Amino acid sequence: MDVEGLVAGVLAGDRRAVARAISLVEDGGAGLEALSAGIYQRTGRAATIGLTGAPGVGKSSLAAQLLRTDREADRTVAVLAIDPTSPYTGGALLGDRVRMQEHATDPGVFIRSMATRGHLGGMALASPEAVRVLDAAGYDVVIVETVGVGQAEVEVAAATDTAVVVLAPGMGDAVQMAKAGILEIADVFVVNKADVAGAGDVIRGVRQMLHLGAAREWNPPVISTSAPRLEGIDELRSAIAEHRTYLDASGQLRAKRRARLLREVESLAAARFRLRAAAALEADRTLADELEARRIDPYRAAAMLGDETAAAE
Ligand code: GDP
Repeated sequence: MDVEGLVAGVLAGDRRAVARAISLVEDGGAGLEALSAGIYQRTGRAATIGLTGAPGVGKSSLAAQLLRTDREADRTVAVLAIDPTSPYTGGALLGDRVRMQEHATDPGVFIRSMATRGHLGGMALASPEAVRVLDAAGYDVVIVETVGVGQAEVEVAAATDTAVVVLAPGMGDAVQMAKAGILEIADVFVVNKADVAGAGDVIRGVRQMLHLGAAREWNPPVISTSAPRLEGIDELRSAIAEHRTYLDASGQLRAKRRARLLREVESLAAARFRLRAAAALEADRTLADELEARRIDPYRAAAMLGDETAAAE
């Protein structure tokens, strides 16, 4: 399938084309730019939801429940599970998706895990493009699930309309999460495993942290859930919907999306520049010699490299 065919397939919502397009985004191969150009105008419709939290807190279980409520409301849903730590996701994450198997044959559902391979900007840059593929394919809701609470995951979650941060008793303390910058990006907090001892303490811990933080226009609600008992799921759904309403009414949705596009372009440009600068440095032996002989200082060399790379544009 050529890229033109791939674009047409994605826009028609063809699952095979969507899967291939996401692989292309993962691999960062030739054709990625044409894919982006082909689908971009047809994006911006999907509501994107991020699910972040330490491994084992119940993100997959909650994603499956959100998926169910969306399907009951007749919304189509894509779940993108992102693993920034392993180059090939393969079995592990998809194995987890077994609890979503009941949806495997539902044409209104698309589930896919994704890992970093060749994309020049890593996961933080690959995931927004993968989300756009799903958006262009017509999914009403795109749930982006990350595995852990590292910097890359926080960035991925921050690139969604509504970032849901999931906590559970005994799984990573709140202070650690605050350090990862999660407080700033969370639009909704979930304390899952409400059926397990210690859940009340986690809720109090989050509330306390929120209380200590700077006042914000949107105060993230703290929702208590139990995935296996189906408790709190409707409340979580409502909290996400309320956040969406707030985003729309306040103009924040536009502002947030615009800011994140600018950040993305800046990072893409920086990643491209870095590659070119490295290649130019490699090719220009004289510059390296002059630098080593202390006839040119590093700042000047960097400026020269910048000029050369810009001239090569
Ligand atoms: P993830 O790694 O964050 O995606 O977490 P999973 O959804 O895979 O859940 C990890 C484990 O916790 C699984 O064994 C789930 O069955 C279990 N689990 C998920 N939610 C709950 C919950 O609300 N209560 C209890 N008791 N167990 C849960």
